[in-house]
Amino acid sequence: MKQTISSVLQPDVDRRQFLRFAGSSAVVGLSPAVLYRSATADQPASSVDRPFFKTRGVVLVTKDLREVNWPQIAKEAGLSTIGTHVTPSEVAGFVRSEKGERFLDECTQLDIQVEHELHAMKDLLPRNLFDKNPEMFRMNKNGERVGDWNCCVHSKEGLEVICRNAVYYSRILRATTGRYFYWIDDDRPMCKCSQCRAYSDSDQALILENAMIQALRKENPNASLAHLAYLGTLAPPKLVKPEPGIFLEFAPICRSWAHPLAHTEVVGRETLSHGETLDCLDANLEVFPRETAQVLEYWLDVSLHSDWKRPVKRPPWNPAIFHSDLDTYAKRGIRHVTTFAAWIDGDYVREFGHPKFVKEYGDILLAYGREAGE
Ligand SMILES: [Zn+2]
Repeated sequence: MKQTISSVLQPDVDRRQFLRFAGSSAVVGLSPAVLYRSATADQPASSVDRPFFKTRGVVLVTKDLREVNWPQIAKEAGLSTIGTHVTPSEVAGFVRSEKGERFLDECTQLDIQVEHELHAMKDLLPRNLFDKNPEMFRMNKNGERVGDWNCCVHSKEGLEVICRNAVYYSRILRATTGRYFYWIDDDRPMCKCSQCRAYSDSDQALILENAMIQALRKENPNASLAHLAYLGTLAPPKLVKPEPGIFLEFAPICRSWAHPLAHTEVVGRETLSHGETLDCLDANLEVFPRETAQVLEYWLDVSLHSDWKRPVKRPPWNPAIFHSDLDTYAKRGIRHVTTFAAWIDGDYVREFGHPKFVKEYGDILLAYGREAGE
């Protein structure tokens, strides 16, 4: 079905202004036919029903979901899942609004799964507890308890509060897949108290996650919870083992998207090479199950590729690099793939037109493993 530009924007976005840009909407990236073929056009229904990649997702912020008809875009791209972002309190406000309810209804009607990928600790351990219970909060390098970010993972009472609130938010922000994502605060320090300091950030995060999954499973025995490997937690935990139900989520934010991840000599941000990034992935896959591991990528992340500044730029979408990256992940047994597509919102669509590369992304994912001759 041909996507009309005006149908992409939510009703209160100025469609006339948008239509002015419709004619200039560029096809972003060339897709050699060999790289992807429409699964629905070329494949028998039985194989289309079981794509190699079980999760084919995008992760979006609430502004994107308020302004653009993402359930429809996801459906037409053959995607399985939309993840919301950034914090529990923010997304809870959205899903309780009229637009949020409509978003959830549309996802239900279109059979799009909804998950919530959240930097959560600041919400799960309310900061107003600090005055009365500073021991629940992290200790900084100077030996002071501080209520800014994260928590002390060796505070039993703190963990109880965090677990209670994880369950509370799981009722408001239900994951239709049973997969939950309560990450530590974004790129913020963890606890340096005498009990915590022997544990890396990855180990501290896993202590938290092991407590949360037990609480979530009392509510829903099929619940699972992500361990996010990203920045300070990119290396695997060493002292703590994952409880059943914890799955790896690998987010290689320091890589370069101008080159395939398989080009191991390429150096990305923070002087981390692709080879070192893949070493971290492989080390994590020795700790966490392969079959449930998920990649959280940035191929379509307008916010990252605009350096989190507006006005935004188009993402450097390149189907050939994407396909190579999928090979890199698939050969390690990874079957769950999602990408940030944050900031593809009303402003983006007015400036650049319909984000056609989302369908290319979805088509390649859906057809993966079934290209010509396979
Ligand atoms: Zn501590």
